[in-house]
Amino acid sequence: MPEGDTIFRAARTLHRALAGHVVTRFETAYAPLARVHDDTPITGRTIEAVEAHGKHMVMRFSGDVTGPDASLSRAASGGPLSARLQFADAPSRIGRTMAPDSVLAIRHADAGRVGGAWRGPLALRTHMRMHGSWHIYRPGERWQRPPRQMRIVVGTADFVAVGFNVPDAAFERGVDVGARDTIAALGPDLLDPAFDAAEAVRRLQARSAMTIAEALLDQRALAGIGNVFKSEVLFEGGVEPFAVVGTIAEERLTALVAIAWRQLAANVAPSHGYGRRTTGRLAPSEGLWVYGRGGRPCRRCGTTIAFAKQGFGARPTYWCPRCQTP
Ligand SMILES: [Zn+2]
Repeated sequence: MPEGDTIFRAARTLHRALAGHVVTRFETAYAPLARVHDDTPITGRTIEAVEAHGKHMVMRFSGDVTGPDASLSRAASGGPLSARLQFADAPSRIGRTMAPDSVLAIRHADAGRVGGAWRGPLALRTHMRMHGSWHIYRPGERWQRPPRQMRIVVGTADFVAVGFNVPDAAFERGVDVGARDTIAALGPDLLDPAFDAAEAVRRLQARSAMTIAEALLDQRALAGIGNVFKSEVLFEGGVEPFAVVGTIAEERLTALVAIAWRQLAANVAPSHGYGRRTTGRLAPSEGLWVYGRGGRPCRRCGTTIAFAKQGFGARPTYWCPRCQTP
């Protein structure tokens, strides 16, 4: 279940491997992306950056085609993979309509915005949702996931980035990708160096009728918190997940935002290592305060950790009934 820290780390890894290098290989299982590649080749462009925006990952490509002729490289690799592979889930999921209040929905008609021989900068925007992930491999290295889960491949001379089960993907003309649509609708990004905590608090307060657990998941309030951090942040802040935002004092909301910032920052620190942790304890079995610990004793007070499904999508929520109050 990718959260902001996971996407941030993935983007950083991809950026280090790919940025500054020319694309020598592009394949995709998604027909709209393949069509863009046919019209306006990705091969030959330079990867300028890979960035995380909340839970979106944006891969930026130059407008200059500097490598070998794209049609030649496609012919050499046997043509676009989309011409040979069809995935049962792909066409329907591409057109799937998300819930109206889901700011993370990406309209795949966006891919149609890039048509003809567009030679300017391009951006590939992907969202991992529940099961998507990006891996980085050396050319020829065996993939850790089955090839049938491949949705997008972006390769350079030295590395191959593979998007597995990435359910949402679209190309955008790159110049304004960060200023539009879903990304523009995101609240302050917890992993952005310029994170605006006061603005995040204001946006939470604007959701006065929501429960705090749901408000923390609303990426338009602040971007980067997923279901694990939701429960962990509320535990550390001592706030009960079903408390309604409008009833929570501003100081407590401010504290929650600070805790969220600290927890996410700690989970992307270079020294962090593997696995998500909020307790500061190194043992993997002791890494989290409450998430996934329903029925077990609270690490602080020994009270049995409670569990409920909450809000849109019935996302699991864990909390300590004693340490957390409305
Ligand atoms: Zn407790």
